[in-house]
Amino acid sequence: MKSTKALVKVIPAKPAEPNLAPLVREILEKLGEDPARDGLVNTPVRVDKALKFLTSGYATDIRKLVNGALYDVKYDEMVVVRDIEFFSLCEHHMLPFYGKMHVAYLPKAKVIGLSKIPRIVDAFARRLQIQERLTQQVAQTIQEMIDPVGVGVICEARHFCMMMRGVEKQHSGTMTSSMLGAFRSHKETRDEFLSLVRKQQAW
Ligand SMILES: [Zn+2]
Repeated sequence: MKSTKALVKVIPAKPAEPNLAPLVREILEKLGEDPARDGLVNTPVRVDKALKFLTSGYATDIRKLVNGALYDVKYDEMVVVRDIEFFSLCEHHMLPFYGKMHVAYLPKAKVIGLSKIPRIVDAFARRLQIQERLTQQVAQTIQEMIDPVGVGVICEARHFCMMMRGVEKQHSGTMTSSMLGAFRSHKETRDEFLSLVRKQQAW
């Protein structure tokens, strides 16, 4: 008879995650705060949890995430997923930047499940990032996964590190784009993508 004890041994224990709470407590102290006061007493634990969630993209296996959602098709029209909301942290200040991403590709022989595209965006957004790299990583991942005729990604974002520190006006946004394959070489393809992104939402 197999005992449960033996089973437990076979499953390796998950390596302990570093606990950031003591470090956060130290930051609070260095800021001149009293980490023991009512409002702050649980803050280090909350910050630890929040930071781990906001950087959980490092642990995401993109291949696993997409696995099973790649389909062979004879479809050669542009696929566009607009207005994908994302939230990320800038790697220079560890302050949030957030916005929308528009992703398009022209299939060659494969398409990717539509719901997977926002999940790819999340996997890269939930890391310490710069907007340019985030935009490129999403485009390159789709390129690698389905080898399409081309990929286009446009990212519009607002950065708290600029807004809160008074570096830039409150309402100015930053745009980045990554165009691969036909989206880079063919103006008509790029223009079609841009016009689809700019179109008013019909619902
Ligand atoms: Zn920043």
